[in-house]
Amino acid sequence: MIKLDNDGYCTVVITCAGCPWWSAIRLDMAEGHACAVTHEKVHHPESKQAREAARKWRRAQQRKLTATR
Ligand SMILES: [Zn+2]
Repeated sequence: MIKLDNDGYCTVVITCAGCPWWSAIRLDMAEGHACAVTHEKVHHPESKQAREAARKWRRAQQRKLTATR
């Protein structure tokens, strides 16, 4: 389970329950999701959790964009 912590300010911290020694920091959610997906592909190819989360997040972003138009 890969988790993205957005401090609501300017950074996203990515941590992985399977790899407590690993963490990453990115400047926005898009990069954070890309980072999580890359980690998952390399270290947890059997898991789809980060890929699903990234897909859902992208969809939610698109809904937000169309809702504000
Ligand atoms: Zn991991």
